[in-house]
Amino acid sequence: MAKNDVSARTDLTGCAEKLRLALPLMTRYGIPPTPENYAVWYHYVLDDKPLLKDHIDGLLDKEDHQFTDEINEQIYQQYLSECNLQQAEQIRQEIIVTLRETAHSLTQTGDKADHYGEVLHRFDETCDRAESLNDIYSLLSDVLKETRMMKESMERMKFEFAEKSENMNQLRKELEQVRRQASTDALTGLINRATFFTNLDSVAQESDPMCNPFCLVMIDIDHFKRVNDTFGHLVGDKVIRFVSETLSRMVKGQDIAARYGGEEFAVILPSTKLENAVILCNKIREHIANTNLVRTGTRESLGKITVSFGLAQNRLGEDKMDLLARADRALYISKDKGRNRVTPSKD
Ligand code: GH3
Ligand code: MG
Ligand code: MG
Repeated sequence: MAKNDVSARTDLTGCAEKLRLALPLMTRYGIPPTPENYAVWYHYVLDDKPLLKDHIDGLLDKEDHQFTDEINEQIYQQYLSECNLQQAEQIRQEIIVTLRETAHSLTQTGDKADHYGEVLHRFDETCDRAESLNDIYSLLSDVLKETRMMKESMERMKFEFAEKSENMNQLRKELEQVRRQASTDALTGLINRATFFTNLDSVAQESDPMCNPFCLVMIDIDHFKRVNDTFGHLVGDKVIRFVSETLSRMVKGQDIAARYGGEEFAVILPSTKLENAVILCNKIREHIANTNLVRTGTRESLGKITVSFGLAQNRLGEDKMDLLARADRALYISKDKGRNRVTPSKD
């Protein structure tokens, strides 16, 4: 008891220390002190969630970084929201209950079947010893009674099984939906950043940079802040959706497009050399630049919407974060050179 008290106190002291480190950072970056934001910055200083830390560091690296409510909310949802986990846990519990009930019904039917077997066996034995038709008649009535009961029990069981299997199917669908929600981005339907990293790991593992290289592409909408500022966030969201739909449509089967965050996307092109990846990126870039997006209703043009690309081909023994950094540096060269362009990594 005393030991628990001490460790609880130690933990509390640790928490308070981390919060003391987090608070000045939140003040410095103008982050409202909501419980969700506290949670995000607490984990940032605790450094126990590498993806959350990378995400925030990536934002801080940008000169004009801004932690808008939208960005704060997105970081919380992406890395800390437990909602999906809770839902998945609830479904798991329901599946366990249904399985237990099914096992119980099976045991009961098994017991009844055993009993029925015994009755039939007894009938077989006593039939030989029956002295009169009356004896046989009475034995037969017992067997018929047992058979009727067995039939009823089997019918009940059939009904229960049908009900349970429907229940299980429903639970399986719900679980699938929760799994999908947890891996996709709600606005675009593309896979989210966490799933992107899982995919990047498996593509990197399967790729041999010498004979079967893959390319990583980082994409960022140009001057997107202007779109939000001029037309509002809802129109901004539609532009993000337009870019994501274009990406999904223009990349082929095994390619993987993800929403990396905000107005940034990442694409993995397995079994693709740098020069072919550049050709594909330019096609996507031109398609977006040549599409005249208009507001629904007023048909007012949103002006030229363009995107910048940076890409890199994997190298032997290269860490995925280094590959990502090379693609990211190439993207910033595209930005520096005037945007609406594709830059392959040369470093
Ligand atoms: P650059 O060409 O250098 O990329 O400039 P930019 O304006 O696109 O880049 P900046 O990073 O300054 O601004 C990105 C903006 O994207 C800021 C942020 O509010 C907005 N944003 C991020 N996520 C969303 C979102 O889900 N919806 C909307 N509408 N805006 C978003
Ligand atoms: Mg950006
Ligand atoms: Mg941008």
